[in-house]
Amino acid sequence: MDTQMLIGSRFEAGTEAEEHILNPKTGGKIVDLPEASHAQIDAAVDAAEKAFVSWATTTPAERSGYLLRIADAIEKDADAFAALESLNCGKPINAARNDELPAIVDCWRFFAGAIRSLHAPVAAEYLPGFTSMVRRDPVGIVGSIAPWNYPLMMMAWKLAPAIAGGNTVVFKPSEQTPLTALKMAKLLADILPEGVVNIVLGRGETVGNALINHPKINMVSITGDVATGKKVLAAAAKTVKRTHLELGGKAPVVVFDDADLEAVVSGIRAFGYYNAGQDCTAACRIYAQDGIYEKLVADLSAAVSTIKYNDPDDTQNEIGPLISKRQRDRVASFVERAAEVKHIEITAGGRPGSDDGYFFQPTVVAGATQDDEIVRREVFGPVVSVTRFSDAEQAIGWANDSDYGLASSVWTKDIGKAMKAASRLQYGCTWINTHFMLTTEMPHGGVKQSGYGKDMSIYALEDYTAVRHVMINHG
Ligand code: NAD
Repeated sequence: MDTQMLIGSRFEAGTEAEEHILNPKTGGKIVDLPEASHAQIDAAVDAAEKAFVSWATTTPAERSGYLLRIADAIEKDADAFAALESLNCGKPINAARNDELPAIVDCWRFFAGAIRSLHAPVAAEYLPGFTSMVRRDPVGIVGSIAPWNYPLMMMAWKLAPAIAGGNTVVFKPSEQTPLTALKMAKLLADILPEGVVNIVLGRGETVGNALINHPKINMVSITGDVATGKKVLAAAAKTVKRTHLELGGKAPVVVFDDADLEAVVSGIRAFGYYNAGQDCTAACRIYAQDGIYEKLVADLSAAVSTIKYNDPDDTQNEIGPLISKRQRDRVASFVERAAEVKHIEITAGGRPGSDDGYFFQPTVVAGATQDDEIVRREVFGPVVSVTRFSDAEQAIGWANDSDYGLASSVWTKDIGKAMKAASRLQYGCTWINTHFMLTTEMPHGGVKQSGYGKDMSIYALEDYTAVRHVMINHG
């Protein structure tokens, strides 16, 4: 197991407080990893600064070649990456190996191609006697901070467009899930020039805080909680850093009477509970119209009760545990508070899922109303609420009545109704008759307090580059 950080070309252990890295399936310790000191953080930033000079002047084709080699190397070692991700996050091995790893490899390959085909207005004499052209140049040194729910995928979403765009990076994985990032450190050091990517370990309040306040860091990219995003913004104000914020979500799922009930139930069963609901786009806030409500609650509750989550044979599992005891207790307390509300009924699950590890039963909270905590706050666990509505206006109003704005879906056989709803939903993404499906060519990111800036797609390259105007006077 790789346990050292990458600073320039050096592999080093941190010198500060140790973090216990735990196996969420058992609660047992995997390894202790010390976090970086201030001197090590400075050294990582200095290495990125030094590397920037030559990396920024490589051609798109050269950078593309590096990204393709990274993709190939991950693909070659995909079984080991998946096993490590599964160990550290508790994900079922099949989800890590068959869903996540191919998407991660695809992300690196996409940006290898995309950086060679950026577009801008044509160069021309927009003023007589002067030729104007647009450049897209790197922003500089990017401080990248990732969450624990998809460690290797978030790393790909952040690193691939950043280095494709000619930036250099200091990357901090979540203190809870650093293992695949440390394996990536080895792989990246073998392929990339020294200092283009540096990896430091540590907690948010210490190492993360040092990165977001570092005077030499030009851009901070973070995926995490809304509260963390606000801290990044406050820190960024001091030196006017560019920020890229992928924050929380509470995705509404609007189900009209005429929807295909079977598809809705199997969709929510899959997309409300995937990754044990630790997903900012999880289909967790259902609004079901009067005519379909009762049957939806009954069928969904029955379907959710069959989700496999703590089978000793991991290949049978559809979801895993939550990341930590703290997160499991947090999820349990949301459900306990919901259960105390008179009009709410827990129709599936509702309790911790085992004595060992951090499992929680896949849960359905029926009869919830718009003002209930379970409808308003992000739970980040395998818990879906169902709320009854009578007309489209009410459903769209409730769906938009949220601080979050990341993902949403609409389920109906009437395409006109679907398109009208999609045009009014204030979310970074609206799916129609599906949910959760991502593709590297399309942008992922939020509005409102879900943040701004896009992951994946050509828009991520726009975020990680600066548009510049160069004008030539013909004299
Ligand atoms: P978190 O905000 O606690 O931590 C995320 C990262 O930020 C970690 O690396 C952490 O160490 C770091 N961090 C925490 N405090 C910091 C500080 N003061 N300064 C600098 N860095 C700091 O979030 P989490 O619990 O790891 O992840 C769950 C959250 O992430 C959820 O709210 C979820 O919705 C969100 N999320 C969003 C997306 C998206 O694409 N919008 C994707 C995945 C997760």
